This record gives sequence, C-alpha cells and structure tokens, in this order.
Amino acid sequence: MDLNQQLIADTKGFLHGEEGRALYEFALEAADSGPCLEIGSYCGKSALYLGAACKAKGGILFSIDHHYGSQEQQPGEAYFDPALFDPRSFQMDTFALFRKTIRDAELEDTVVPIVTYSDIAARAWQIPLSLLFIDGGHSLDTVRRDYNHWAGHLMSGGYLLFHDIYTRPEDGGQAPRLIYERALASGLFSKLPTIRTLGVLKRK
Ligand code: MG
Repeated sequence: MDLNQQLIADTKGFLHGEEGRALYEFALEAADSGPCLEIGSYCGKSALYLGAACKAKGGILFSIDHHYGSQEQQPGEAYFDPALFDPRSFQMDTFALFRKTIRDAELEDTVVPIVTYSDIAARAWQIPLSLLFIDGGHSLDTVRRDYNHWAGHLMSGGYLLFHDIYTRPEDGGQAPRLIYERALASGLFSKLPTIRTLGVLKRK
C-alpha cells in the first residue's frame, strides 16, 4: 500500500485509520472504471487515502470543498480550530493546508481540487463516477443536497460512501445516517458492511 503513514498522522481530520484504509481499498477497485469524487476535503486526510489509490491506478480524484469550514467548525462552535482561521480574510480557510497535504504526498498529478460549494460544481457536472464519498457539511439539508446532486452520477457498480454514520444520537449527528438510509430505501443500492462510521453502498 503506497500510503504515507506519517503524513496521514500529521494531517488534521476526523477520519479513523480503519475507515481510511477502507476508502483506499474501495477506491483501488473503483478507479479502474472511472474518476472518484469526494465532497468535503478539509485538510486532505481522506484525499491521502483515496488519492493514493487513484494514483496507483492512474486515475483521478476530484475533491470538492469551499474550504470555509462547515457550520460546526466556525469560531465559537464545537469543532473550531484556531489554526485554520485566516486573520487576513477573517474567516476559516483550509485550502492552503489541503494543498500542502496533496503536494507533500506527491498527489498533485492525481487529486483535482474543486474549490466551491458542491451544488455549484454539480450544475455543470457530466462525468460518470466510480466512487462518491460524502463527507461535507453535516446538516440534514447539506447532506440531502450532496446526495441529490451527486448520487445520480454514480455508474453501475460504483460505490456510495457516507462518513459519520451514527446509530445513536448521543454519539453524533444523525443527518448522514438519515440520508444513507434514504439512499438504501431507494432500491438503487446494495448495502455493504459499515466500517466504524463509514456507510458503504454499491450502485446496482
Ligand atoms: Mg466526517
């Protein structure tokens, strides 16, 4: 596995190593069929796994994020990180760190950052995807829009992955799980085993 464990450990993020390795394995299989896409780049932790797999197959990972941080990462909120606050623009900015992560991992030939809101990028999207990883904003409205705008681009046999699936509300927000269950109820996907909080569906 061509993963830089030190860089992964040094990169800020909320992805468990087991989930990351699962992302790597799914992307390794998917990348033969077409590009992978993630929503929610943050500082690049998941892109290290997905990108390494895509690179191994000569593939591409599109990574979408406005890089202003999600709701819960704003000043005064639970996941605010002062190191990611840009005093000049006076707002959150994770793009500089994301870019550094990708450069340090020598993934600039594989990972294509798309710096905007996912619904804006979706307005012109036409490329079929082999893997879609939804890990952007975690409000119900945001997860729903990410699913509605992007899941239709998955090719048959493609993977739809949701991060932060919590069965119990006391463990975490429920929006990703609700949309994951809605996707499953659509009948368009088969369910694969969940890895920690990583929900895995496969497009029929
Ligand atoms: Mg997450």
